[in-house]
This record gives sequence, structure tokens and C-alpha cells, in this order.
Amino acid sequence: MIKKIRIIGVIGHPIKHSLSPVMQNAAFKAAGINYRYLPFDVKPEECFRFIRLLPRLGFTGINITVPHKETAYNSVDYLSREAKLAGAVNTIKVHNKKLYGTSTDGEGLLRSLKMDADFVVKGKSIIILGAGGAGRSIAVYLATKGAKKIIIANRTPGNALKAVALVRKASPLTIVFAIKLKDKFVRFYSNTSDLIINATSVGLNTTDTAVISHKAIRKGIIFYDLIYNPEVTSNIKEAKKGGAKTYNGLGMLLHQGAVSFEFWTGKKAPLSVMKRALQKGLREAP
Ligand code: NAP
Repeated sequence: MIKKIRIIGVIGHPIKHSLSPVMQNAAFKAAGINYRYLPFDVKPEECFRFIRLLPRLGFTGINITVPHKETAYNSVDYLSREAKLAGAVNTIKVHNKKLYGTSTDGEGLLRSLKMDADFVVKGKSIIILGAGGAGRSIAVYLATKGAKKIIIANRTPGNALKAVALVRKASPLTIVFAIKLKDKFVRFYSNTSDLIINATSVGLNTTDTAVISHKAIRKGIIFYDLIYNPEVTSNIKEAKKGGAKTYNGLGMLLHQGAVSFEFWTGKKAPLSVMKRALQKGLREAP
């Protein structure tokens, strides 16, 4: 008998550089399950309709990437706690023709910090550079996971203040405030912080000037850049120069993918297979 193939998609705009298809298809194969993972370039104006049609199109689930995570949040029938906290959805499961949305980015980062950097968030002071979709959702997630202090440094102060308000609402006991995205302010707070995360989009291009310089870095602090391509960003170069222990965002990509895999299949994700597929995909990326 021919086994039914289950389709999982990833939607974004653009989508052709996504490494998720190589990672998830390798995972499905290793787990011996008949799933296929396919990329779809969906324009913003088509996104809501596309998501609502998923049950009729026969999808088992999808991932959602830039710029559709907020539309996805407003398109599903049910939201997980993580999705509500993030105000965004990056993973949907279709079950009994209903859409279940969740956000796996925060848990992906938390697992990467633990497994790659041996960093436990509980009780720690964390500076987050950036207050866009990723910055906001990780700030809230890390606060709810027991961070003692969250400091948000963003180019546009109004966006930093919005992130501060979200953290305060989700986790009233966390100390949270905004500072200017300038070397001298980041340096001041870096002296008493354990971790700096770059959640700005600065560094995606090899020609980008780093968002902070080595002067902002306390020697020995952990610096985690959410960007993974290029592997060594301009921010990582500056952080290394300042004496930080540095990590790029490949671990977060891997672990958010593992949490999505578990959400769709109910099975444990084959992490080492997924990691190898990601590394190969990155080496072969244009
Ligand atoms: P976004 O919503 O577009 O936010 C961009 C952020 O970057 C904002 O805080 C923005 O500040 C800041 N920014 C942009 N240009 C800047 C500049 N020239 N100087 C200073 N700040 C600048 O993007 P996002 O979805 O949050 O994603 C941010 C980064 O995280 C992206 O590079 C993305 O690839 C990465 N990411 C990685 C993973 C992973 O799995 N590793 C997951 C999610 C995201 P303003 O508020 O002032 O505009």
C-alpha cells in the first residue's frame, strides 16, 4: 500500500535562501516518516488567505518566516502560550481542519544558549540589541524563563519602550528598561551583565558596520548574534576583539526547527542529523 505523504511548508517573502527545507527533510528522512517540507514564496497580500486555506490544501503544517509572523498570529484558530507571549506565530499545525499556532523562536534560543554556551537564563542579566520582531519575542521569552534583568538597546527608542512594556506585562518581577544603542551605555551595563544578544538585522551583509564596537564589550561576557549567515558577522568580530565569548544564530535556527518538528510529529527531533544538514546547506549556500 502507498503511504500518504504529509506536506509541511515554509512561507516567506523572499524564501529561496531558507535553510529550513534541507534541515527538516533530513529530519523526516532520519525519523522514517513520510513527510515532505517545501518552500512557498507568498506575498504579504496573499498570506492570510494562504494560511486559512491550509486545511483544504491538505497541509499538515507550516513554518512562517519574515515578513509573515504577525499575519500568521492573526490567522490561526488557536494560539499557544508561547505565541501569545511573542505576539507572533512561526509554526502552524493543522488538526481536524483547525489551525494551531505557536512560536518556537524563544525556546530555540533558550535551548541553544544551554547546549552551545552552557548558559542558564534563570537569574541572569541580559542586554538585547534590537527591538524588532525577534528582539521583542526573545526579550519576553527570556524574562518569563527567569532572567533577572533585561536591558533593551534599540536605534528607535519608541520601539525599545514597546518591548519594555511587553516584558513588564508578561513578567512583572523582571527588572526591565531601555537604553540608547550607543557604545558608552552598552559598556556601562555590560559590566554587570552576563550576556549580550544581537537581535538587530545589522550584520546580515558582510559590509555592515557593527551595531556596537569592541569598546562596548566587557571581557569574558557572552555575545550571541541571532544572525548565522555570514558565520562571523561584523558584530561577532567586534565582540571577539572586546574579549567576549561569541556564538552565532545557527544553534537557534537548529533548535527552533527541532521544536517545530516536535510540534508537528510528536516525535523527538533527530538533532545531529538536522545540524549536519544545516551546516552542509550553509556551505553550499550562494
Ligand atoms: P525586524 O523586525 O526587521 O527588526 C530589525 C531590528 O534591527 C530593529 O530593532 C531595528 O531597529 C534594527 N535595525 C535595523 N537596521 C539598523 C541599523 N542600521 N542600526 C541599528 N539598528 C538597526 O527583524 P527581526 O525579525 O527582529 O530579525 C532581526 C534579526 O534576527 C534578523 O537578522 C534575523 O535574520 C535574525 N533572526 C534569526 C533567527 C535564528 O533562528 N537564528 C530567528 C529570528 C530572527 P529600529 O527599531 O530602530 O528600526
